[in-house]
Amino acid sequence: MPIFEYKCNQCKKEFEKLIFTGEENNITCPDCKSPDVAKKMSAASFMGSSMGKCATNSPKGFS
Ligand SMILES: [Zn+2]
Repeated sequence: MPIFEYKCNQCKKEFEKLIFTGEENNITCPDCKSPDVAKKMSAASFMGSSMGKCATNSPKGFS
């Protein structure tokens, strides 16, 4: 079950939310209840894609 990171455009609060099917278009800020939130790329997937490129080189670099 995917957890997405969001940032509220109203109060600038960042929060994580577990998204159920059909809920992804109905996200509101837990603090100010504003629907004006921006989905962030999750830290896990962001690091996975960026580190994937250097993963082939890093084992030799550490030894
Ligand atoms: Zn908010």
